[in-house]
Amino acid sequence: MPQRNGILLVVSGPSGSGKTTLCRRIANERETHYSISCTTRPPRPGEVHGRDYHFLSVEEFTRRVESGDFLEHACVHGNHYGTLRSEVIGYLEKGMDVVMDIDVQGAAQVRGCEDRMIRSSLVDLFVMPPDETELLARLSGRGTDSAEVIALRMHNALEEMRHWPEYTFRLLSGTQEEDYLRFKSLLLGERLRVSRLQP
Ligand code: 5GP
Repeated sequence: MPQRNGILLVVSGPSGSGKTTLCRRIANERETHYSISCTTRPPRPGEVHGRDYHFLSVEEFTRRVESGDFLEHACVHGNHYGTLRSEVIGYLEKGMDVVMDIDVQGAAQVRGCEDRMIRSSLVDLFVMPPDETELLARLSGRGTDSAEVIALRMHNALEEMRHWPEYTFRLLSGTQEEDYLRFKSLLLGERLRVSRLQP
């Protein structure tokens, strides 16, 4: 039987789009490996080192940049974020699919990557909130944040959304179940590509 190369599913979208929920769910269902990013931002309540992120000091992050450990890295909202090569390459080589939840700068770096395996495995998707009213409702969350904080998030989200035409696929968010069905269908469809099969 032919062996298949792994798929690198790169997912971006503003906060409030639901992209992280999609990425976590597909990994929890063991359809993909979830690429755990490194970040210099402090953990939020409930976040676990090594599960949600590898939380690094700025010095450690810089050292790993200099060692060439990152497939991509970027500064997002004042903090550093990066994807370790070790979270991606070995999995793809074994024919396993990998999902990455990264910002638009990181996605552009992966898209521009020269590595033949990365190029052939890449599937990039932008998740869009349905409209501004719904986005505002999602960003307002539990109603505990100040109007300034919500306005800043809204501004950042609208800024990030300008990048969707750079992606191959776009998912306009509806309900969580609809979104997940379409998200998983994309992965399942991509697995059928003849170009991914090694005779
Ligand atoms: P948060 O701090 O809310 O978890 O994430 C903030 C933003 O950073 C999100 O847009 C998320 O997709 C992005 N992000 C998370 N990990 C990475 C990464 O490894 N690389 C890049 N470029 N962005 C990331």
